[in-house]
Amino acid sequence: MFIRPLRFSLAGALVMAFVIAAPRGQHPAIGYEDTPRIPGSKWRVHDGKRPQPRVVTPGDAGSNGAPADAIVLFDGVDLSKWRGRDGDAKWKVENGNLEVTPTGDLETVDTFGDCQLHIEWAVPADSKGESQAKGNSGVFMMGRYEIQVLDSHGNITYPDGQAAALYGQSPPLVNASRPAGEWQTYDIVFEAPRFVEGKLERPAYVTLFHNGVLVHHHKAMLGATCHRSLATYAPHGPTGPIRLQDHGAPVRYRNIWVRRLKGYDE
Ligand code: MG
Repeated sequence: MFIRPLRFSLAGALVMAFVIAAPRGQHPAIGYEDTPRIPGSKWRVHDGKRPQPRVVTPGDAGSNGAPADAIVLFDGVDLSKWRGRDGDAKWKVENGNLEVTPTGDLETVDTFGDCQLHIEWAVPADSKGESQAKGNSGVFMMGRYEIQVLDSHGNITYPDGQAAALYGQSPPLVNASRPAGEWQTYDIVFEAPRFVEGKLERPAYVTLFHNGVLVHHHKAMLGATCHRSLATYAPHGPTGPIRLQDHGAPVRYRNIWVRRLKGYDE
């Protein structure tokens, strides 16, 4: 029987020696210590001491499953993370969906500032009406800043009021709507506005994918959503609830999850 001789090289031996010498729990030397510092950062270019990104297990491919660090706000059954106008959330939960009933808006019990929100919605296949009266609902970030939900597949309305618009402010870059009755997705990256001593320091920003299509790219909001008037900011705290609008249409929601964006400013 032929036995292959063990192969040694000087470089390999040196690497092995370093790995063995590396303190427990630390990586062997990676990166560089003689590179320039990155402006606005305490780290150097290719800095091996820079903290490794936190590991997050993504959701199942193709199922829009929530990543491991997401807070599931609605899983198809449980409404305990929501409350309604008079306390309990009274929208209809059926077949894994949450359907608007004429009982007022729902809002999350928890509050959020900078966050990533995934939410799926569908307007009724047989929804009647036109313009703003066809499948109207909405997702209000911090309870104030509305991303419009509407049947905008062949239903013309004022552009800053169509689906995926920052209502009353900015139409989406494109109309990525699916027909009424089909499920649609919003993937929202929301940055809360900053106030210093009662004055706006930085507006809220929205990045939004509608059915996977980029429709807002770090778009600044002009202020809290309003109707037939110009949006303005009023100072508020660093977090607020996510609110879903009852606008009288039996819009359905499902698969709602959110991730807090910790350390976003770092
Ligand atoms: Mg609305």
